[in-house]
Amino acid sequence: MKPSSARHLSFIASLIALIGLVMFLVLRKEPPAAIPENRPASPPTALSLMSAPPDWNSLNAFQSTITRADFEQLLTSVFTVGNAWQSQIQIGETEAIIQTGNADGGGSFHLRFADPGFAAPPPRDWRSADQLPPTSADQPLAGMRISIDPGHIGGDWAKMEARWFVIGNGTPVSEGDMTLRVAKLLKPQLEAMGAQVSMVRSKDEPVTPLRPDSLRSLALDSSTAEDSPAALQSLAERLFYRTAEIHARADLVNRTLKPDLVLCLHFNAEAWGDPNHPTLTEKSHFHLVLNGAYTNEEVSLADQRFALLKKLLQRTHDEEVRVGTTISEAFIATTALPAFTYAANSENARPVADHPCLWLRNLLANRLYDCPVLFMEPYVMNSKIDYARIQAGDYDGLREIAGKSRPSIFREYADSVASGIATYYTQSRKLPRPAATTN
Ligand SMILES: [Zn+2]
Repeated sequence: MKPSSARHLSFIASLIALIGLVMFLVLRKEPPAAIPENRPASPPTALSLMSAPPDWNSLNAFQSTITRADFEQLLTSVFTVGNAWQSQIQIGETEAIIQTGNADGGGSFHLRFADPGFAAPPPRDWRSADQLPPTSADQPLAGMRISIDPGHIGGDWAKMEARWFVIGNGTPVSEGDMTLRVAKLLKPQLEAMGAQVSMVRSKDEPVTPLRPDSLRSLALDSSTAEDSPAALQSLAERLFYRTAEIHARADLVNRTLKPDLVLCLHFNAEAWGDPNHPTLTEKSHFHLVLNGAYTNEEVSLADQRFALLKKLLQRTHDEEVRVGTTISEAFIATTALPAFTYAANSENARPVADHPCLWLRNLLANRLYDCPVLFMEPYVMNSKIDYARIQAGDYDGLREIAGKSRPSIFREYADSVASGIATYYTQSRKLPRPAATTN
């Protein structure tokens, strides 16, 4: 071996040793830090029952679509009732920083505000009246999609839903069957004005394939040790007819029907006590619920905070107020019902300024449906007059009930909704341009 080769080999050996030392230093693990005893595990993100963690990145589509002033106004005067949102949403000069997890940790989503006058249009699947193509005056709903959601399930499920009572040998009063009856009267009227109308439910059966039995283990997980077997059963039933059912309807509305507007039909009631010996009342009234008024507790749940922001950013509120106003006016003109009023200190409802019949509430259906939703609460099923009208059933023309000539309560309901909607879209949609004239 030549001396130069030996020097060469020894150099390579030193190099390998050096690389080995560097790799040892780089790759060696830090000694494990001492783990404190009883360190609390970080709690899972708080969610509503049966809700999936939200996809916060989907809100990126709303970057620069709202000014700081509009964001703050909608958040504080429409969508919340308390101040707890301040620990989850920080409003800065150029962006809002929204916690995506619990208040004590987790990530955040940054929403950039638009400069005044430069807000991009919000992306959404539904169209407001001024976004629909021009139409003729006799087809005010042409080209639009409306979904009718008859509230509750009715039929064999009505007693379980607790929206049922009977007096003696009278016809049982079942809200879910009555809303379906109104829906079937309303649908052809909207179609005659050009709308494409879908029914979220068209029979007295649930939309969800789940049943109380399949929800017992979830009920068990979310109950406390003191809950009786009867309380557990009642929770499993509520998870079925309310939570699972409305989630199933929301999937249908958002993924398949994709309407421009949803009409949720309900009949209101005052507390009636025993469904076999219900209390009747003199009171009847009307109000219409729009999405908003999230409570402090609701804002702290990630899925509801996300839904609030999505509603706010889509600007559903403005459209709900406009359509809600003409529907209310039509109802009051026909029925002369007084506006229902929630308690002034209500923690989950707030009035819409200057609109006595419109109230903000965060209900499962108006939160989950991804478009403007009008949630109607006319009449009081256990008022003396409305009960008598319900007993009279559906009929053509007028009949004498409680000393006055009246249409069927079901037709009056459907006609009032159809008339209010016709007024709004007739006033708000553009008419086609007159054909250009040539000389
Ligand atoms: Zn109802």
